[in-house]
Amino acid sequence: MTMTITHLGTGSRGNSTLLETPNAKILIDQGFSGVQLKKRLARLNLEPEDIDCVVISHHHGDHGGGASVVQSKWNIPVLANERTALELGLNPELTKYFNSLDLVKIGDDLTLLPVPVPHDGSDNVAFVASHGGERAAIITDLGSWTDELITHVRGCEHISIESNYDHQRLVSGPYPYSLKDRITGRGGHLSNDQTGQFLAEVCTEATRTITLTHLSEKNNMPHIAESTVLYYIEEIFSGDLKISMQDGPEFSHYIGDTTKRVEAEKKTAN
Ligand SMILES: [Zn+2]
Ligand SMILES: [Zn+2]
Repeated sequence: MTMTITHLGTGSRGNSTLLETPNAKILIDQGFSGVQLKKRLARLNLEPEDIDCVVISHHHGDHGGGASVVQSKWNIPVLANERTALELGLNPELTKYFNSLDLVKIGDDLTLLPVPVPHDGSDNVAFVASHGGERAAIITDLGSWTDELITHVRGCEHISIESNYDHQRLVSGPYPYSLKDRITGRGGHLSNDQTGQFLAEVCTEATRTITLTHLSEKNNMPHIAESTVLYYIEEIFSGDLKISMQDGPEFSHYIGDTTKRVEAEKKTAN
């Protein structure tokens, strides 16, 4: 029993994450054009038609902007909460609605728990995916977090979370004050320090892999995000931390049966 997590790309120009189990292939978010999605899936030897459904976190274009395209082009069902579906103008015949904290069952070996997170006038949720007793959290676009989110994410085997900006770079950077305020506010994005603090609360011995996502191209750098986050978790986390940039897919994380991971790592080493 393995769950594979592959980011097709993350950042303000589009986000989508592929979750695969033996019986399901789903995308969390679809912020790419149809052409881009097809191209990125092709790098994994997949076609859009192979995707069982697309699940949307919130209505912002970089997460949901490509949701109606998968409905009209490939008849793929989209799952979203009502507000997000409405804002995106989804086709009701190909849309399934979920409520926060109600388990969503996908096929016979995957469930998703949508957990609300505060973000910018949207009805945004993070997802905790469960398969064969192992859990992966996909958390993006949040200005702060709740105790509820900590409770659901603590001890997940895999955590993907945004690490959007370096505070110093943002403050001294070119953005107007109003935008700086929005990004750092409760409805904005997480700084590298905040992501580190959140991870320090939720990582346990069970946590083996972390992916940092949605790095700002203007206000962050991969090495700064990595070193800042590791500073907060170095004593509790000894697993594999990677960074997903805008042009993926670049790597996969495997949880559950580790033989697949070892094989893939061997391939990369050769
Ligand atoms: Zn975003
Ligand atoms: Zn957003």
